[in-house]
Amino acid sequence: MRPVEEHAAAVAALIRATGTETVALARARGRVLAADLASPVSLPPFDNSAMDGYAVRAADLASTPVTLPVPEDVPAGRVDGPPLAPGTAHRIMTGAALPDGADAVVQVEWTDGGLPGDAVRVDRHVEAGQSVRRAGDDVVAGQVVLTAGTVLGPAQIGLAAAVGAPELTVHRRPRVLVLSTGSELVAPGQPLRHGQIHESNGPMLAAAVEDAGGEARLLRFVPDDVDEFLTTLEAALAEPTDLVVTSGGVSAGAYEVVKDAFATRGITFTKVAMQPGMPQGAGRYADRVAVVTLPGNPVSSLVSFEVFVRPALRRAAGHPHPDRARVWARVAEDLRSPDGRRQFRRGRLDLDGTVTPVGGAGSHLLAALAHADCLFVVPAEVTEVAAGSEVEVWLLDG
Ligand code: AMP
Ligand code: MG
Repeated sequence: MRPVEEHAAAVAALIRATGTETVALARARGRVLAADLASPVSLPPFDNSAMDGYAVRAADLASTPVTLPVPEDVPAGRVDGPPLAPGTAHRIMTGAALPDGADAVVQVEWTDGGLPGDAVRVDRHVEAGQSVRRAGDDVVAGQVVLTAGTVLGPAQIGLAAAVGAPELTVHRRPRVLVLSTGSELVAPGQPLRHGQIHESNGPMLAAAVEDAGGEARLLRFVPDDVDEFLTTLEAALAEPTDLVVTSGGVSAGAYEVVKDAFATRGITFTKVAMQPGMPQGAGRYADRVAVVTLPGNPVSSLVSFEVFVRPALRRAAGHPHPDRARVWARVAEDLRSPDGRRQFRRGRLDLDGTVTPVGGAGSHLLAALAHADCLFVVPAEVTEVAAGSEVEVWLLDG
C-alpha cells in the first residue's frame, strides 16, 4: 500500500500554482495577497488631534487657569488649516488637522468648553505633544504594509483601504469541478425508492473546496455509466478547470465507473495505507487536467479531501499555511486501529486537551462526522491506543 505522504505528494504535484488577479476590497476577504503592498501615504497623513478640545501652544498654559480667545473652529475634515496665533486657542475635534503654530491639544474636559468666537478657560497645563497623533506614527509613506502571502482578513482589508488601495492583487482561486457517481444516487429534495440514497458527496465536497479557498463547480451526479461520465466531464471541461474531483466508483466492485473511465486515460489508482479512504486515484486526464478520484463513502470522501486535496489547493493558491492547525491531546477512550494503515478518527476536542471520539471507524457514519470538530491520527503501526495517550489532532474549525 502507498504511504499517505506519497499520495499527498502526488496530488500536490498535480495541482499547479494559480495565477494572480486583481479584486476589489469588498471581494478580498479570505484571499491570499500575491504582491507586497506599499503605502503611498503616511498614516496618519498629517498631525491631528487625538481628543475633542482646544489646539494650543503648551507655552501659553505656563500658569493655569488661563483664558484664551477662540478664533477658529476646526472640525474633522476642515482642509484650509487656519494657523494658530500665539495666545489663542482653536476649538478642535478628534481627527482634525493640528493647526500650524499649535503643539498640543487640551481635552474639552479640562476647560470650561468656551465656544468659537468667544474664549475658553483652560484649567490644566499640558506638555507639548499632548493629545497629538503624529503623521507617520502608524505607517511611513513608502513602507510595505502587507507582504505577499498574507491572508486577507478584516484588519488587513481595513489597512489596505486606509493606505488608499481600492483593490488588491491576489492569487486566483483554483477552479475545481466536482462530479459524483453512482446509479443509486437521487438529488436531495427528491423522494427515495428502496435502494436509493441522496447524493451527499457533491454538495459536501463543493463546500469543502470553497472552504479551502477554491471555486467549486458542482456538476449533476452521473450514474455508473462510463459514456455518460465521460460525456458529462468533457462538456464541463469546456470551461477552464484547475482540478477535477470525483467521488465513488474507485473500489473493487463490478461497476467502478471512475476507474473504468480513467484507468486508460492517465489516472493511477492505488491503495493508500489509511483508514478511511484506502482506494485513491490521481493523475492528469488525457494530459489536460488534474484529477483526484475520492472514494464514495462520505466519510472516506471528506477525510481524503482533508488529507490530500485541501492542502494541495491551498498551496496552489499561495496560502502560507496549507495544513490544518495541529495540536496534541489525550484521547478519552481506548481505541483499536488496523495494522499498517494510518487511521483518521473523528473527534471533539475539549479545552482541557482531551479528544473524545465521535462515531466509530465506519466510513459511512456521516452524522458523526458532522458532529466532529477535529480529526485525530492513529499512526499506521499502532493497533491499540489506551485512554489517556497523546494523539495528533487536526482542528477542523477555522
Ligand atoms: P463506491 O465507492 O461508489 O462503491 O461507493 C461507496 C459507498 O459510498 C456506497 O455505499 C455508495 O452508495 C456511497 N456513495 C457513493 N457516492 C455517494 C454520494 N455521492 N453521496 C452519498 N453516498 C455515496
Ligand atoms: Mg458507486
